[in-house]
Amino acid sequence: MFDSSDGGVRIELRELTKRYPGQSAPAVDAISLDVPAGELVVFVGPSGCGKTTTMKMVNRLIEPTSGGVSIGGEDVLRMRPDDLRRHVGYVIQQIGLFPHLTIAQNIAVVPKLLGWSKTKITDRVDELLGLVGLDAGQFRSRYPRQLSGGQQQRVGVARALAADPPVMLMDEPFGATDPITRERLQNEFLRLQRELRKTIIFVTHDFEEAIRLGDRIAVLREGSHIAQYDRPARILGAPADDYVAGFIGTASTLKRLALITVEDAFPADGDPAPAGLPEVDAGATLREALDAMVAHGTEEVAAVSGDTRHRLTYHDVCQAIHRDGQDQEVEPSGR
Ligand code: ADP
Ligand code: MG
Repeated sequence: MFDSSDGGVRIELRELTKRYPGQSAPAVDAISLDVPAGELVVFVGPSGCGKTTTMKMVNRLIEPTSGGVSIGGEDVLRMRPDDLRRHVGYVIQQIGLFPHLTIAQNIAVVPKLLGWSKTKITDRVDELLGLVGLDAGQFRSRYPRQLSGGQQQRVGVARALAADPPVMLMDEPFGATDPITRERLQNEFLRLQRELRKTIIFVTHDFEEAIRLGDRIAVLREGSHIAQYDRPARILGAPADDYVAGFIGTASTLKRLALITVEDAFPADGDPAPAGLPEVDAGATLREALDAMVAHGTEEVAAVSGDTRHRLTYHDVCQAIHRDGQDQEVEPSGR
């Protein structure tokens, strides 16, 4: 459908606008932006700012009120919507696997619509399961409810890739997982994208995720207004305004987790850790401590140093970041 022989297709949004009935302000207000061929562009912004609406206008799950979208130079509004959607991979916010279909059947939905042969479909399903790190023999015949959240999200990505579309739209695709699984999925996905070089619009409200994944980032405010659209390093180095700087602030708070050690965080007058808590080394970072808490579903860990075991709680971690943040409040502002 789209000519991607030159290595991917470009997406262009022109004054794209959506006005929902009965609302005074448009949900998406004349956004114009180019997504270069083969790049992953992240839309990041708070909940309700119009990310999903913008994305759904690209594959016409939502019809624009005005403005236009083109993919590979072709006007999307002139294509048949079902035709369009078969050529644009889509990973939705809530995973959205069909519960009554097996994993293989879920992945095969679009290839089947495209009339592929049975053998071609089977081969492709197995290839994709391998690609997203799931053993085909083990997972092919299972149902979605028999998979963990992270595994289901991998299947969601596999399904979107099934017919090898040049364009992918991904709406908070890793949102429903814990931080460790999310980071693993992000890393795997990055590795995949380095090979596949799809043109991707990726929506998230998580600025850290945007920095990690994006070739470019569009920081959006209410109405899908672009506060800044640039490469991650430029956004970090030269935020356009206080709004953008605010997002960076949230990310650097999290980065502090990797800089503070566990032994700097437990209170001097704290308790010895009771038996049975997950253990982390006193020299480990708070990031690792937090990971251990998440992995074990507890809000405390035992920080082990030689024979002593200190109790470190989630509250202690928050306190330590906050304390450390105030020490560092001399960071460049000048805005
Ligand atoms: P995001 O994905 O950034 O959280 P959305 O695009 O889902 O934001 O929503 C943008 C705005 O449009 C919100 O104020 C939301 O309440 C509104 N909205 C979304 N869908 C509809 C709808 N079907 N009808 C009316 N308003 C909607
Ligand atoms: Mg959304």
